[in-house]
Amino acid sequence: MDDRPPPSDDLFGSTGLSPAAAPGDVVSVLLPFAVAEPYSYRVPHGMTVAPGDIVEVPLATRNVVGVVWDDGPGLDRSSNRLRLIATRFDVPPLPTASRKFVDWVAAYTLTTRGMVLRMVMRAPGALEPETARPGFRLAGPPPERITPARQRVLDLAADGLAWSKSGLAGAAGVSTGVVDGLVASGTLVPVDIPPAPVAVAPDPAFAVAALNPAQAEGAAALRAVAGEGFSVTLIDGVTGSGKTEVYFEAVAEILSRGGQVLILLPEIALTAAFLDRFALRFGQRPAEWHSDVPPRIRERIWRGVADGSVRAVVGARSSLFLPFPDLRLIVVDEEHDIAYKQDDGVTYNARDMAVVRGQIGKFPVVLSSATPSIESRVNADQGRYRRIVLPDRFAGALLPKIAAVDLRIDQPERGRWLAPQLVSAVAETIADRGQALLFLNRRGYAPLTLCRTCGHRFQCPNCATWLVEHRFRGQLVCHHCGHAERRPDACPQCGNEDTLVACGPGVERLAEEVHARFPDARTTVLSSDMLGGVQRMRRELKAIADGEADIIIGTQLVAKGHNFPLLRLVGVVDADLGLAHGDLRAAERTFQLLSQVTGRAGRVGGASRALLQTSAPDHPVIEAIVAGDREAFYAREIEERRIAQLPPFARLVALIVTGPDRASARAHATALRAAAPFSETISVFGPAEAPLAVIRGQHRYRMLLHAPRSADVQAYVRQWLGAAPPPRGSVRVQVDVDPQSFM
Ligand code: ADP
Ligand code: ZN
Repeated sequence: MDDRPPPSDDLFGSTGLSPAAAPGDVVSVLLPFAVAEPYSYRVPHGMTVAPGDIVEVPLATRNVVGVVWDDGPGLDRSSNRLRLIATRFDVPPLPTASRKFVDWVAAYTLTTRGMVLRMVMRAPGALEPETARPGFRLAGPPPERITPARQRVLDLAADGLAWSKSGLAGAAGVSTGVVDGLVASGTLVPVDIPPAPVAVAPDPAFAVAALNPAQAEGAAALRAVAGEGFSVTLIDGVTGSGKTEVYFEAVAEILSRGGQVLILLPEIALTAAFLDRFALRFGQRPAEWHSDVPPRIRERIWRGVADGSVRAVVGARSSLFLPFPDLRLIVVDEEHDIAYKQDDGVTYNARDMAVVRGQIGKFPVVLSSATPSIESRVNADQGRYRRIVLPDRFAGALLPKIAAVDLRIDQPERGRWLAPQLVSAVAETIADRGQALLFLNRRGYAPLTLCRTCGHRFQCPNCATWLVEHRFRGQLVCHHCGHAERRPDACPQCGNEDTLVACGPGVERLAEEVHARFPDARTTVLSSDMLGGVQRMRRELKAIADGEADIIIGTQLVAKGHNFPLLRLVGVVDADLGLAHGDLRAAERTFQLLSQVTGRAGRVGGASRALLQTSAPDHPVIEAIVAGDREAFYAREIEERRIAQLPPFARLVALIVTGPDRASARAHATALRAAAPFSETISVFGPAEAPLAVIRGQHRYRMLLHAPRSADVQAYVRQWLGAAPPPRGSVRVQVDVDPQSFM
């Protein structure tokens, strides 16, 4: 990512504004819609505004919220018809670094600045002042008549603090009428209760960990860069080596210097345990930011971040867009995770954008992973990133012993999915009171349902995909658009009853086999589509950590970062699944997933093992995992990418054309292709129908642009799209810079 154009000042244009614009002046206001350029407005009497101020302005027939931007006002400066800014909100301005970041992300991802600003303005309620709650305090004369109930209230209120009416009545065990009586007598007087802080400042000295020598060296290196402006450090350490403990020292350093810190996590389900761990180290939980946080709390966090009272945030990729005035460290945990790539709307990779944010804010960025992305590993090898290596697990814990189960020799019985060797390993493990994890990256019961008589297959009406049977729910479900239908008893094509068969396994089907084989074991199925959502998932993860399950069956959700102290065996049911994809990152993804999931075992000591069921035990990825030779994998994969001139040794941009029917999508894709500017170094492949040819009724064609690292692909694509005929009707072109998915 690093030899991309640095976020230099000319990218943003020079500031056309004096620091504050006075009444009558014209300023530009960026609005959070799909607009690239800010609109011009005039400052009304009695108001001054400066870049970053959050304002409300009229647009057509309504008022909308926007931000005073740094661009000089447009050509219509002299116009008398310019409309006036309606309101300036009484909140801290959007910091300069945040505004530069919006501009940079938009330019890099080839989206409009307005759409990026929209990601900043995700908590509209945060702009309104926080209202105090009404309360009461003991201040007036004692009442004329004292009852036991009144006395209890007075005893409590004797602390002189503000109480809410229901809080006081509840604590005293009386009706609110008793409190009303004391208010009427003037004994209790009304006061405002200010809102409690949304997050208390963490204490960097709360519980300092005793680090082992490798950890201490890493921590010292991070503390050294903490005050030194922009840098990127990759913590590359095996699962359970204590990467978190090490980067906590960088967090502590920044907190003690008074800066704000942001820790990015790829998965919401991970954050609950992480917040507790943070609290053990720093005495307080950090603020939590992701789509599952209730709106009222999000508003308060947004405001707390903006006014600097929130010092530490742990969140999903979207927390990069919070309005930090004094951010001085970003940690990207599990930096290799594809959950950091947002694939709809503004397509950005939060890991890469975190690096950019650090460059703009001139502070260090820390990337952490047991299985670094090839990109980050190459950046470290070439000296652009520092690298901290933690080669061993903490406190002498050993990595699991890994072996392949050759499915061509050790075959499961018909209609079953576990080979005899894996079955006996599970039996031994649970007999020994250890936990076993069976990993299969397929949700539902079976990936395909067909009719034995006529061959009918159940397909999604909106997508070019098969419906996945979810037997617990009794439904056939599309994993791309969410379409769900009841599983019928008869085949809809030939009408025969009881002829539908499930093909292949999903986690639910695996659970059926496990129940049959181990009827007395306590079995848990973990899958991201679990009923009960995130809350339930978090409870289940905690229950597993507490030893309340013997056998865990899970999708990739269980592979990520969790700490299951009792886990002794990991069985990978289909280690070949990811390799079948055959796209540029198939080997890397498979290596990462298998390392991560096997790395769940034996984290806190004791012997542990992992078995990989595979039909290709001599595939280089499987061989590297079994041999525990990660360096062999990286060396080979990096060399292959270099020879094939694939990222990070070249740049890719995908253009995806979608349309309501195949003909219109293809016609526009063809016209677009014809408009591609000639270039000596940049090649364009396609258009070709996408592997996922239809999603949600939209037909899809893909083109792929390949360029040397030094190329300015954004300029090329901008020129290209400018030269192409505009898409007609509801045909759309989506640009995906650095694509992760080729579907
Ligand atoms: P990683 O992030 O590398 O997978 P963790 O930071 O989660 O590793 O550490 C693995 C386990 O070892 C955790 O339970 C953690 O609390 C423990 N651990 C690691 N380093 C230390 C340390 N220096 N002192 C105490 N416990 C540690
Ligand atoms: Zn669908």
